[in-house]
Amino acid sequence: MSKPCNTQLVIDGVCRDGASGRRMTLVDPAREEAWCEVAVAELADVEAAVAGAQRAFETGWRDLAPGKRAEVLYAVARLIREHLEELAQLEMRNVGKPISDARDEVALGARVFEYYAGAVTKFFGQTIPVARGGFDFTLRQPMGVVAAIVPWNFPFPIACWKVAPALAAGNCVVLKPASLTPLTALRLGVLALEAGMTAGVLQVLSGAGGQIGDALVQHPLVRKISFTGSTSVGSRIMQLASRDIKRVSLELGGKSPNIIFADADLEQAARTSPMSVFANCGQDCCARSRVFVERKVYDRFVELFVAATRQLAVGDPSKEETQVGPMVSAQQRESVERFLDSARQAKRTLACGGDRPHTKGYYLSPTVVLGCETTDWIWREEVFGPVVCVRPFDDEEQMLREVNESPYGLSGSLWTNDLRRALRVARRVESGVLSINSHTSVHVEAPFGGFKQSGLGRDLGMAAMEGYTELKNVYVAL
Ligand code: NAD
Repeated sequence: MSKPCNTQLVIDGVCRDGASGRRMTLVDPAREEAWCEVAVAELADVEAAVAGAQRAFETGWRDLAPGKRAEVLYAVARLIREHLEELAQLEMRNVGKPISDARDEVALGARVFEYYAGAVTKFFGQTIPVARGGFDFTLRQPMGVVAAIVPWNFPFPIACWKVAPALAAGNCVVLKPASLTPLTALRLGVLALEAGMTAGVLQVLSGAGGQIGDALVQHPLVRKISFTGSTSVGSRIMQLASRDIKRVSLELGGKSPNIIFADADLEQAARTSPMSVFANCGQDCCARSRVFVERKVYDRFVELFVAATRQLAVGDPSKEETQVGPMVSAQQRESVERFLDSARQAKRTLACGGDRPHTKGYYLSPTVVLGCETTDWIWREEVFGPVVCVRPFDDEEQMLREVNESPYGLSGSLWTNDLRRALRVARRVESGVLSINSHTSVHVEAPFGGFKQSGLGRDLGMAAMEGYTELKNVYVAL
C-alpha cells in the first residue's frame, strides 16, 4: 500500500511535527523493512496538547448541546466506515495483523462511535427522595481533559473505545497511541476534524511513552488517565496519579483460562479454542493461554486441539485467508522465545510450533505446550505471543484454585453442557469477563475490564460513561 496520509501529531486542529522535528521509523513486521516515519512528540507538545484540550473543553465542547455532540460522534463513525479499507490497510501493515481481522476491528471502532453517539442523550442522573424533603437530583458531569493511552495490539478499537465515551460525556481527549503503532490514531485525529469536531477536542500525540508518559500523566490539567497496557506501566501510572488524586482506569495484562469439562461439545471447543489464544498472534490481553481439561477427555481434546492448531493459516497478513500474521516486532518475538526456551529446558513437550515458519518477518508458529507444572514461568506469566499451555484436572475445586492462583483476572471461557455447573463455576472464576461455550470477550454494549492485577474500572457499555464523568448531587430547599 502507499504511504500513510498522516504521520504528524494532531494538535489544535493542525497536523504538525513535534517541537524538535524528530521522527521515528516504523518497520513493517511482515517484511522487516522500514516503511514510514512518524513525528515524535516532546514535552513541549504534551504541554500544547493538554492546554489546547483544556481550552476546547472550556470554550465549547463541555457546553455543546448533547444532540450536537452526538451528531459529531455519528459523523466520526460515518467517516470511519467510509475509510474502512484505508484504516484496515494501515493497521495491517503497521501491526502485522491479518487484513480480515483489521477490517473487523475498524468496523468495531465505528460501532463504538455509534453506540456512544447514542449514549450522549441516554446517560443521566436521578432524582432522590431525600428524607428531609426538598428536591434532590444528581448530575453526571464531564471531568475535563482525559489522557487516553493505548497499546500496540489493538490500536484502533481500543483508541475508539476510550475516545468515544470520553467525548460523549463532554470531556476533551489527548490520545497517545503506542510508539510502534500510531498510524490509525493519527488518522482518527484527522477524521474527527473532518467530521466537524472543534480543534483541540481530540489531540493525538505519537511518541515514546517512556519519554512523554510521565509528563502527560502528571499534568495538572489532566483529570483522568484511561490506560490500556502492561501491568507494570499501569502500576506506575497509578502511583503517579495518586499524588493529586487523578481518576484512573486501567486495562492491564491477563493469563486467562479456558476450562473444558468432559461433557462439553469437545469438537466445537477444540475447533474454536486455537483462535481464542492465537488470534492476533497471541498478542491479546484476553488470550486463553492456560487450558484446563478434565482428565477423562484430556487426550482426545489435546489431539483435536493440536490438529486444529496445525491447520491455522500463518503467513502474509495482506492475504485474505491468513489467520495468524507475524508478531509486532523482533523484540516481542524474542521475548516469547525466551519463554519457549525455559519450557524446553524444563523438558516440557511442545506438541506443535515453537519454530520460525518464515525466513522474513517476525513470525512464530502457534505453539502448544504440554506437561507444565503450575510453578512454571510459562504457565504463570503473560507470554503475549502464540503460546498456550494445556493441563489436565481431576477435581473442580482444585482446578478453580489453580485458575484463581493467577494474579491476573481479565477474561476466560468455560465449556460444559451442564447449566448448573456452568453458572456455579462462572461465579467462582475471578475475572471481569467470562464466556460460557464461547470465546467472545468484547461486546460494545457490555462492560469490559479486569479483576485483580488485570485492571481497575471498565471500558465499553454504559459502565465506561460512569468512568468518564463525576457524579454530583444537587439539593434544592423548597
Ligand atoms: P505498554 O504498557 O508497554 O504500553 C502501553 C502504552 O503505554 C503505550 O502507548 C506506551 O507508549 C505507553 N507507556 C509506556 N510507558 C509509559 C509511561 N511511563 N507513562 C505513560 N505511558 C507509557 O503495553 P504494550 O506492550 O503496548 O501492550 C501490551 C500489554 O497491554 C499487555 O500486557 C496486554 O495484556 C495489555 N493489554 C491489556 C488490554 C486490556 O484490555 N486489559 C488490552 C490490550 C492490551
